[in-house]
Amino acid sequence: MENLTAQGNDEHLSQLRTHQPNVGWIEVIAGSMFSGKSEELIRRLRRAKIARQRVQVFKPHIDVRYSVDHIVSHSEMRHESKSIETAADILAAVAPETEVVGIDEGQFFDADLVRVANVLARRGVRVIIAGLDQDYTGTPFEPMPQLLAIAEYITKTHAICVRCGQPANYSQRIVERAERVAVGAADMYEARCRRCFVPHADTPTSHITEADD
Ligand SMILES: [Zn+2]
Repeated sequence: MENLTAQGNDEHLSQLRTHQPNVGWIEVIAGSMFSGKSEELIRRLRRAKIARQRVQVFKPHIDVRYSVDHIVSHSEMRHESKSIETAADILAAVAPETEVVGIDEGQFFDADLVRVANVLARRGVRVIIAGLDQDYTGTPFEPMPQLLAIAEYITKTHAICVRCGQPANYSQRIVERAERVAVGAADMYEARCRRCFVPHADTPTSHITEADD
């Protein structure tokens, strides 16, 4: 169902693109971990390439979990990308003929990503940004809230709660790490719904389970 909705959006966008080639816009794909954000980003980028549009993809240098030069979804879909340090570096790296810019893991970029996205969109570029909208405590993860506010189109992706099977909107950290940014996957996080999410997740899951039972 979510896929159909996203596809519907996409068709609409490519129609716009055909009719108004010099008009840019911002799309944000936001959700918890394991919600298919990167997969949806890669799907849109592939479709743009099928439409023979010039595509460039960026990811923050911090995220080298699976690959240095590709964005990779949890389902192993991948797309070539350039690792970059700051949002401003994206502006410098975008070629004049580029029509679509994909950015993965938007939450790991600095606040300047908001300005950069606006500059590119005003220049006529379709900017697609995927990112975590909340950190492991359930706090909005900047600059994603600001990007959601300036985006023309928003897709919220949901994972499946590992506890109860409901749509999951939260990333539960299941290991003890104090820092906000701890890059990891299934070994460090799991998807949880609002009911099953434990906000202050510095305690490992086993402890939480014991306390709850
Ligand atoms: Zn649940």
